[in-house]
Amino acid sequence: IIELGTPERSVITTCAYCGVGCSFKAELNGDELVRMVPYKHGKANRGHSCVKGRFAYGYANHKDRILNPMIRDSIEEPWQEVSWDEALAFAAQRMRGLQDKYGKKSIGVITSSRCTNEETYLVQKLTRAVFGNNNTDTCARVCHSPTGYGLGQTFGTSAGTQDFDSVEDTDIIILIGANPTDAHPVFASRMKKRLREGAKIIVIDPRKIDLVRSAHIEASHHLPLRPGTNVAVVSAIAHVIVTEGLMDQDFIRERCDWEEFSEYAEFISDTRHSPEATELLTGVPAADLRAAARLFATGGNGAIYYGLGVTEHSQGSTTVIGIANLAMLTGNIGRRGVGVNPLRGQNNVQGSCDMGSFPHELPGYRHVKNDDVRDIYQEVWGVQIDNEPGLRIPNMLDAAVEGTFKGLYCQGEDILQSDPDTKHVAAGLAAMECVIVHDLFLNETANYAHVFLPGSTFLEKDGTFTNAERRINRVREVMKPLNGYADWEVTQLLANAMGAGWHYTHPSQIMDEIALTTPSFAGVSYDVLEEKGSVQWPCNEAHPDGTPLMHVDGFMRGKGRFIVTEYVATEEKSGPRFPLLLTTGRILSQYNVGAQTRRTANSEWHHEDLLEIHPHDAEVRGIKDGQWIKLASRSGETTLRAQISERMSPGVVYTTFHHPDTQANVITTDYSDWATNCPEYKVTAVQVSNSNGP
Ligand code: SF4
Repeated sequence: IIELGTPERSVITTCAYCGVGCSFKAELNGDELVRMVPYKHGKANRGHSCVKGRFAYGYANHKDRILNPMIRDSIEEPWQEVSWDEALAFAAQRMRGLQDKYGKKSIGVITSSRCTNEETYLVQKLTRAVFGNNNTDTCARVCHSPTGYGLGQTFGTSAGTQDFDSVEDTDIIILIGANPTDAHPVFASRMKKRLREGAKIIVIDPRKIDLVRSAHIEASHHLPLRPGTNVAVVSAIAHVIVTEGLMDQDFIRERCDWEEFSEYAEFISDTRHSPEATELLTGVPAADLRAAARLFATGGNGAIYYGLGVTEHSQGSTTVIGIANLAMLTGNIGRRGVGVNPLRGQNNVQGSCDMGSFPHELPGYRHVKNDDVRDIYQEVWGVQIDNEPGLRIPNMLDAAVEGTFKGLYCQGEDILQSDPDTKHVAAGLAAMECVIVHDLFLNETANYAHVFLPGSTFLEKDGTFTNAERRINRVREVMKPLNGYADWEVTQLLANAMGAGWHYTHPSQIMDEIALTTPSFAGVSYDVLEEKGSVQWPCNEAHPDGTPLMHVDGFMRGKGRFIVTEYVATEEKSGPRFPLLLTTGRILSQYNVGAQTRRTANSEWHHEDLLEIHPHDAEVRGIKDGQWIKLASRSGETTLRAQISERMSPGVVYTTFHHPDTQANVITTDYSDWATNCPEYKVTAVQVSNSNGP
């Protein structure tokens, strides 16, 4: 036990890791942060936390932090430390020079889901108001962009329908493509509590994740599907519900478009969606599919929770639509205990989408082609806005390789480690003439940068994050920025170096502008957040206290929309040369590419990525537990150690991507979701063989 005594002061702020958005009391003695205590009045966590938020904040003072700006003429040259003025003038001159030479649309940005709403809003404003194009994208491209598309098309809004409290009234949970025990630990605890009280759970996942069987919990059904077959499994469940007459006809008649439902019902009733036909495609026994469907349709309040195992597929958007169809079929929308709930990965990935980071949408998910919406911004910003959607991240990289995209401002995102097909990302970055990396550390992407602008941690700034339940939480400055500027100030300085003339003096003014221009945020201000603690959007005149549950009296789009969901097999196929399927995910103590958690004591628990492999698959290859193996795909190869695990299904292997040495994304393919380009990280055909190590 370490006796820390009574702290001199404390500041309430929000965790900067996952989309649960836990509130913490940062306790300080003088200027020294001595501990993070979960805040008992935090509405998302109620005094709970996990090992990341509680202990892994030490990266803020890590010796690897870069605190001075740096520039270089070419990526072959060494970095040169310069003043902020010099770095910003260099960056501005280069970016403007590229636009003069190659055109207005030759440059763009990647916003950060780690940064605040206010910072993200400013970066997309920089793109639209200063660069004069819509070339802005976000890491949601590689995680939940199919959620934005699928829920937008069916329900009319691109976000989860429930608050976290809603799980307390749930009777039957479908958990698909998500492992909350590792990725959303505090919400997983609430889910487990409800399961211990008697609720049931159907887990759809190739792995036997913790929620299939852990202390006092046994899933009613585990459907261990073959990776890449989500659409078929969801359709089979819908097939049973429709053909056995288990749907909620009153809900569908009253709340949904009946003509579209009729078309969908005819489609889904076809025998190609039957459990027996689906068993052949997915490997899930027909009897289990049938039993799971009956349980979900008749078991009381049904809620669906899902994660990246749904979205990061070539049919990610189709599965999200299928999930929405299931919820509408069973009338599980618009009250406590039900709903469709994407478990968002990053602390502010919901917010970065809300704030207009996508190249086709202004803040509040309004299309750039909409003249009335552009008029709002044109009046407030005093500039014309391009009405053509800009480039997505993969399009930026393709255009860079082709020679038409030349400059990138990348804030808080390490695309070389996180995005698929590492070789292609590197080729795109290498082809650009100005890459500005704005980050805490010299990350992998910075190897290709010409300007490095030091970033600030969540402890060094004011602002807001929006969590997976649309809750807007305050982030408060615990310590002064070590580099001199919070990230929103750096973006403003860059905009002004390019001639913008912005003069925000506090992030609350940026939030006021967001409220002025975005109807779903019209009632949000720092005063309101101070008074209420937090609010869930939409928060406006119609919903002054925010909106814990969506689609209560009607869908945001009017009538709920059923859309047919034809299963199309991924192009990525296993075969004699690559007989296993690789899927990827996270582990409790580490976070994403590990830039923060690897620089804390959390690395003692997990200091390398491992390849989980079923005992049979290991035995036939002569692989022992802990042994080095070579993991090879059609895209590339890497080495890591094997972990023999009964959690795996035969034929499926699994690894995490927290350590740059592993280079998991050298292996992954460049297939992506048909609607949003979200990469298919979850299905890669691989071979595993013995190795002597790296
Ligand atoms: Fe909460 Fe997620 Fe932070 Fe853990 S990582 S403390 S669950 S917000």
